[in-house]
Amino acid sequence: MQDTKAAPIGRPAFLQGSNRLWIGGQWVPAQSGDEIDAINPADGSVIARLARGSAADVDRAVAAARKAFEGPWSRWSPNERQKLLLRINDLLLQHAEELATIETMDMGAPLARTRGTIGWISGLIRFFASCTGAATATTNSNSLPGRVMALTHKAPLGVVGGIIPWNGPLGGQWWTLGPTLATGCTCVIKPAEDAALSILRFADILTEAGVPDGVVNIVTGYGSEAGAALAAHPGVDKISFTGSTEAGRRIVQASAGNLKRLQLELGGKSPNIVFADSDLDRAVPGAAMAVFNNSGQICYSGTRLFVQRSIQEEFVERLKQFSATLKVGNGLQDGVDLGPLISQRQLDRVMGYVDIGPKEGATLATGGARLGGALASGYFVEPTVFDNVSNSMTIAREEIFGPVISVLPFDSVEDVLRMANDTEYGLGGGVWTRSLATAHQVSQGIRSGAVWVNCYGVVDPNVGFGGVKMSGYGWKGSQEHVDSFLYRKAVYMNIDG
Ligand code: NAP
Ligand code: MG
Repeated sequence: MQDTKAAPIGRPAFLQGSNRLWIGGQWVPAQSGDEIDAINPADGSVIARLARGSAADVDRAVAAARKAFEGPWSRWSPNERQKLLLRINDLLLQHAEELATIETMDMGAPLARTRGTIGWISGLIRFFASCTGAATATTNSNSLPGRVMALTHKAPLGVVGGIIPWNGPLGGQWWTLGPTLATGCTCVIKPAEDAALSILRFADILTEAGVPDGVVNIVTGYGSEAGAALAAHPGVDKISFTGSTEAGRRIVQASAGNLKRLQLELGGKSPNIVFADSDLDRAVPGAAMAVFNNSGQICYSGTRLFVQRSIQEEFVERLKQFSATLKVGNGLQDGVDLGPLISQRQLDRVMGYVDIGPKEGATLATGGARLGGALASGYFVEPTVFDNVSNSMTIAREEIFGPVISVLPFDSVEDVLRMANDTEYGLGGGVWTRSLATAHQVSQGIRSGAVWVNCYGVVDPNVGFGGVKMSGYGWKGSQEHVDSFLYRKAVYMNIDG
């Protein structure tokens, strides 16, 4: 778990000019002229500046998006939009190394991860490219008197606001960009101020691919300013939001003004359940990486790890051994498995939970410390495992969003399902077993938008995932996601005489 010197990787040239908003096909400063530091969480250094967009900038961006929506763009043919998405995909692949480097410098994830996600993002873009014919029209049989032809159309909804979190913005933006470009909507993207650079860099790629001016606009800034203005804006038809449950609730309130449609993917406290009959050689690394991936900063991380009591001791011992093999360090360096947390604020939050654990009776099995030495200026936390956690403890109830696993022992299927569902969230869940019957019973019994059996966290764009309870609503991925960027219209046509 020791860091060595970071490999020298060039500073992407675009970082000098990142303090602009992308509105109507122009790079413009925020109207206030104010800026925000963009920080590399691996060492706390300022790597770029961002424009601090406010309500006035959101107004400009929404106006540009509306104008583009009312122009020729929304009448592009499905074929043209498909070709556009495929050109974007080609450019993504051409710029993969630069984009992965920017993402790593901005939000900390190791290059192995940010490089690895390029292929996944490419699949996501190609999936949306396959959906450009979604705005269909069908003729319906009807029982109306006379000769009436009844058609139902699906048409693009209009201007969509995409509010993106910091935990993987290069890919995360595609849950908004993909259906926007597939359907002929337009959008205003509000990246998180903690990680906006890959989204800003991508704007030029979109233009190079041929995305018309105003179809995609980007307003950087704080959630409480630019984000809140976007969520409340009367000219926005839909908000696609990923982030905390608390901010999600504010977005629901802000949407009331014009009853805008919402897609909300919020927090989670997902159960990952390991039965004694599972293949431990797969379950141990699987359960560890279900949390430690992206340093625990993934919405559906399997943070409540239920382990059948008969294997608890062995399992925790093997989790400790596995954790010790993970290398924590600057993500630009080769061989790093876990990067830093995103910010000082997130570090304080995670360390706060690590302090609470033992006070409420949990046993710290491994980890629990902030890393010092060469990593002292970054926001690094050791992979951490708490054992003997009970479901009522704070660390089992609240989302930590850090590399912290809580191990909770259980005895029976009934016992574990009751505890697994005793949470306000419902995003993910996992089960590890060799028994088909157990896999079926538990995957049916967990109340969440996705369950993984003998694997964790894999997502196919054609299948997707979603949430229930306080993890939000609206499906990401699949045709259903694309359809949620369309509205339905019935046309009754009297064709008598
Ligand atoms: P957050 O505040 O919900 O931020 C997510 C996005 O929403 C950011 O772009 C943020 O902008 C914006 N935002 C914040 N308040 C807003 C408001 N009132 N109106 C409109 N937009 C608003 O999340 P966070 O504080 O960065 O992270 C805290 C927690 O969020 C995590 O611990 C985790 O529980 C959850 N989270 C979940 C996911 C997920 O994938 N489901 C991803 C990230 C975080 P700024 O950040 O620029 O202020
Ligand atoms: Mg940053």
